Amino acid sequence: MSYNHCPLCANSLVVQPIGDKPRQCCSNCEFVNWNNPKPVTAVIVPMNSGIVLVKRKYEPFIGDWCLPGGFMEACETPIEGAIREVFEETGLNIEIDKLLEANSPGRNINVIILFYLSKEASGKPVAGDDASEVKCFQFNNLPINIAFDLHRKLINNYFAKIKLY
Ligand SMILES: [Zn+2]
Repeated sequence: MSYNHCPLCANSLVVQPIGDKPRQCCSNCEFVNWNNPKPVTAVIVPMNSGIVLVKRKYEPFIGDWCLPGGFMEACETPIEGAIREVFEETGLNIEIDKLLEANSPGRNINVIILFYLSKEASGKPVAGDDASEVKCFQFNNLPINIAFDLHRKLINNYFAKIKLY
């Protein structure tokens, strides 16, 4: 993200090269806008021979389906963030099995996504505040409108492996 004014002292910012990149720097204090990516979690939650997806209630890709997950909160571990987000969006209490992949979508979307696999979940998924619907999908009834390239890739990889077992 870029700033209009210094978030520390509200003075004006100038763009100047630091290291190998132009960066916003404060004209008054030591603030530098490093623009580091924000960490996000996303979880493959196996259930009923399928996985749990949530229908997006907000932009971007409102109405499309995606893996449950979201931005980490300050001072929580990635696993705590993943468990919390899945609970908030689906009502399911999950246990993380393993980290599948850490990746960035590119195209100026400044996040790093930690993809986890949870252990088989049980119970009835219930859509939380930022999901309009939550549902279990098997491979042969996956929705066509799945948001985010990386989510699609991870979902396809997951089912491709399952079919080999
Ligand atoms: Zn400043």
